Amino acid sequence: MIYAIISAVIKMKDYLAKAYAFNGRVRLYAANTTLLTNEAQKIHNLWPSSAAALGRLLTGGVIMGAMYKGDQELTLRVESNGPIEGMVVTTNAKGDVRGYVGNHKLFFQHNDGNINVSQAVGQGSLHVTKDIKVRDHFTSTAALQTGEIAEDLAYYFTASEQIPSAVSLGVKIDTDNTVTHAGGFILQRMPGCPEETITLIEERLKELKPISKMLEQGDTPEAIIQEITQGDHEILHTMDLNYTCNCSREKFERGLISLGAKQLKTIKEEDGQIETVCHFCQSKYQFDETALDNLINETKQ
Ligand SMILES: [Zn+2]
Repeated sequence: MIYAIISAVIKMKDYLAKAYAFNGRVRLYAANTTLLTNEAQKIHNLWPSSAAALGRLLTGGVIMGAMYKGDQELTLRVESNGPIEGMVVTTNAKGDVRGYVGNHKLFFQHNDGNINVSQAVGQGSLHVTKDIKVRDHFTSTAALQTGEIAEDLAYYFTASEQIPSAVSLGVKIDTDNTVTHAGGFILQRMPGCPEETITLIEERLKELKPISKMLEQGDTPEAIIQEITQGDHEILHTMDLNYTCNCSREKFERGLISLGAKQLKTIKEEDGQIETVCHFCQSKYQFDETALDNLINETKQ
C-alpha cells in the first residue's frame, strides 16, 4: 500500500493546462501525456515508430477533446498508404482517450537516429468525426501534409475549421520501447488577433526548444505555456488525462446481435463459440454456445 502511494507520487499524473495568452488573443493548450502514451505502448506492444505515431495522435486528440464540452466525443482517423495501415483515436471533453494502430511493429529511423514517423504513416487523409450526441455525426477531412501528425493537425485546423493553429507533439522512446516522455501543445489564434501579435508568436515559436527537449527537462504543461508566452498568459484550468476504454460485454453483444440470426447461427454451427477483442484495450469477451443462443433469440425481438 505504501509502495503504491509512493509510486503514484513519483509517477505524477498526465494533465493538460488551458490558457489565454498574448493579451487574450490566443488560446493555448499544453499537455503531458507520458503515462497514457506508455499505457497505449503496453496494451498494443508498440514498436518505436508505431508508438511515436499513435502517441502523437493520442496527444493531439486529447487536447482537441478539451476544446469540446459535455458528453461530446471526437474520433480522429488516419487513413494512409504507409505501413502503419491507419490509426484511430477516440476522445471526449473529459480527458479520456484511447486508440490503436493497424501495424504495431514498425521501427524506422532517420539518419540521425531519431524515430521516423512519417515513413510509417505515409500519405493520406485525417478524418475528424464529431459526435455531439444531439444529431448525426459529422466528419471533416483534410489531406495529410507530412505524416508527422503535428503538421497534419495544424493543417486540419486551418483548412477545415478556419482556425490558424500551431501544433507541436513529441514522444520519446527508450531502448526497451517504453515511453519516457510524451506531450505537446496547440496554439490557436482567435479572430481579430493583431498583425504584430502574429509576428511575435511566429518569432517565439521559431526560438522555442523542441517539445521533446522541454518534456525531457521536466517542463510541466504550465512551464511549456510560460516558455511560449514569457508570462503573458492566464491559466484557465487544468484537466487530468487518462487512457480509458469504455468497452463492455453489452456493447459487443449489441454488435453481434446486429449481425443477424443467420450469421450468428453459422458462427454457432461452425465454431460453437466466438471471442471478440476490443481494438482499443485488447479486452477479450467470450460467447459460448448458450450465449450465442441467447443472442439469436434477441435478434427475433
Ligand atoms: Zn476496450
